[in-house]
Amino acid sequence: MSDYRVLFIVGPGRSGSTLIGEILGQYPHVANGGELLLWWMASHSTPARRCGCGQRLDECDFWTAVSRQHSDLASPSPEVVAELYRARHFRSWLSLWWRSRRGRIAAPAVSHLMATLYEAIATVSQCSVIVDSSKSPGYRLHLSGTSIPVTTVHLQRDPRSVVNSWRQEKIDPLSPGDSLFAIHPLRTTIEWIAQTLAARWLIAPRCRDSFSSLTYEDFVAAPRDTLRHLTTVAHLDSSAEPFLDDTRVTVTPTHNIAGNPDRRGDVDRGIVPHESWPTNLPTRWFVATTLLCSPFLHRYRYPFSRGTRS
Ligand SMILES: [Zn+2]
Repeated sequence: MSDYRVLFIVGPGRSGSTLIGEILGQYPHVANGGELLLWWMASHSTPARRCGCGQRLDECDFWTAVSRQHSDLASPSPEVVAELYRARHFRSWLSLWWRSRRGRIAAPAVSHLMATLYEAIATVSQCSVIVDSSKSPGYRLHLSGTSIPVTTVHLQRDPRSVVNSWRQEKIDPLSPGDSLFAIHPLRTTIEWIAQTLAARWLIAPRCRDSFSSLTYEDFVAAPRDTLRHLTTVAHLDSSAEPFLDDTRVTVTPTHNIAGNPDRRGDVDRGIVPHESWPTNLPTRWFVATTLLCSPFLHRYRYPFSRGTRS
């Protein structure tokens, strides 16, 4: 068995996890897998999805080598994969949490399949840390009770910003199957609340000192400092950080699954705070999201008014 650890990112979509995963993938001994929850679907879809390196998944040397590591990766049980995908829906999270209490494993076949994928990635990449930015609390709960060492990072973003981002689709011209389609604001808000409750109440108490929180707003305000914090909590080798200065970073392509289509952008990137929701989010959705999420806004220092936190 390979000696590896998983750095698992939990949080809402469109919260910067794809870029953070890519940056982490620049550090020594770190393999950025992207949203590995979607690997099972992406690697068997037609037309073929694209890897973060730009290659079709069925032509990418890295993922074809991973698939060959175990027969369960090339031909997984449809029933087990179906159960794994049910973990994406927040209705399953409380049940998974209950079934994985007191060191138990909620669904051994699912956890075994996840471990098989991690193991194969560690073997092929020869890396000791795997970044999984699946973000689903349910997927994270499937790791409870296993022997896999996990550092969990709860990545948070202002719900009004998340709602506004999901109102717009993002088409991936190179890989249409990886496009991000628009989601109704009410559904996004409910999922944000469910994500936050699950991360704070179901997952954090079980992780103790291997759980860390950060916000998208902190990341874009101070990218280099935020990554230094992450490398410390995840015990990464930070001897060769990819930053050119406090806000500019060199991101060479990594073999990551799904995520934001922007991941195939420029190698040298400047990260600057930019929020369009204070002006673009319609009033009815600003009011609805602010009211529904109000118990949490103070916790993350998000203002109740239209504006970004100071
Ligand atoms: Zn690739």
